[in-house]
Amino acid sequence: MPVSKIDRSEILNWLRENDETRLAVLWRWADRVRRENVGDDVHLRGLIEISNYCARHCAYCGISLHSRELARYRMAAEEILDCVRQAVDFGYGTVVLQSGEDYGCSTEWIAALVRRIKNETPLAVTLSLGERPEEDLMAWRDAGADRYLLRFETSNRRLYESIHPPLAGRVSDRIFILKRIKQLGYEVGSGVMIGIPGQTYSDLARDIETFKELDLDMIGIGPFIPHPNTPLAVDTGMVSDQQVPATELMAYKVLALTRIMCPRANIPSTTALATLNKVEGRELGLARGANIVMPNLTPPAYRILYEIYPDKACIYEDREDCDTGLRGRITALGRRIGAGRGDSLNRAK
Ligand code: SAH
Repeated sequence: MPVSKIDRSEILNWLRENDETRLAVLWRWADRVRRENVGDDVHLRGLIEISNYCARHCAYCGISLHSRELARYRMAAEEILDCVRQAVDFGYGTVVLQSGEDYGCSTEWIAALVRRIKNETPLAVTLSLGERPEEDLMAWRDAGADRYLLRFETSNRRLYESIHPPLAGRVSDRIFILKRIKQLGYEVGSGVMIGIPGQTYSDLARDIETFKELDLDMIGIGPFIPHPNTPLAVDTGMVSDQQVPATELMAYKVLALTRIMCPRANIPSTTALATLNKVEGRELGLARGANIVMPNLTPPAYRILYEIYPDKACIYEDREDCDTGLRGRITALGRRIGAGRGDSLNRAK
């Protein structure tokens, strides 16, 4: 397996590169590293947005407490299990249960849900429920949860604190939590947003290095998309050439560099990319390093209430259309739909 070496100054050069011919070299490099390390299989993870209640004031997120008028929902266990069975019928290997940081989903309620999914289906279960206390993470791991997703959003501590205020009386240290999640035996997923107001090129280079340091199994990268109900709707970024633009192109560069730095990680072509480029965002992500797609299985009535950013891709599609569309797109690229759970090869190494 060829070792990919790329240092800080090279990362910075690529992030600043805008010449299409030279960028084509980066895309080919990332695509080769992807093929040699995780192959042509594209694994599908069914995403179920189980609740949009949230206890947090994240300045970027459309389901945070900043969205005061937003109607809130919490799916019933039976509704969630219907979606889970749909994932089995579609042949997916994983379901991802995601929500706001909703303490109305109790430790035991989630644990019971995970146990049922694990008893009744062969699926891997990924949780993405925010910064829950360690007892919760332990209980859910004991119940059989396989993976946990928690993006650290940015490695710049000051920027992070400014967009992600802690709960009263607590600190928010996602890097620390990610290390604990790993010790608990979960596959660990994290990631960042690209183009947060105030985010610099060196921040972004450090983000990519942090992915490697954390030895992540899954890495999600998406452009920041301002949501009108949030403080970041008004651009508070720098008027300088240090500010990273929140563009599709920048997201591809980070995706490609991440593949080169973390060759065996599972990297999704994210919905945020598909949102900025509805025609071919998913395909370009898959061609530039990604090997995972997360089709949305949330019932459409709830989906419209889970707009973490505006105009989210697939929001009005039903599950069948979403599934059929994705399959066509993947096979048209000459890639295969992955069989089985698509466990982390990084973990298996
Ligand atoms: N409550 C969970 C799940 C949040 S949604 C958690 O905090 O982990 C999952 C991801 O969506 C977030 O981690 C963030 O990176 C991304 N996201 C949220 N708001 C966004 C926005 N306005 N633009 C782009 N991505 C956003």
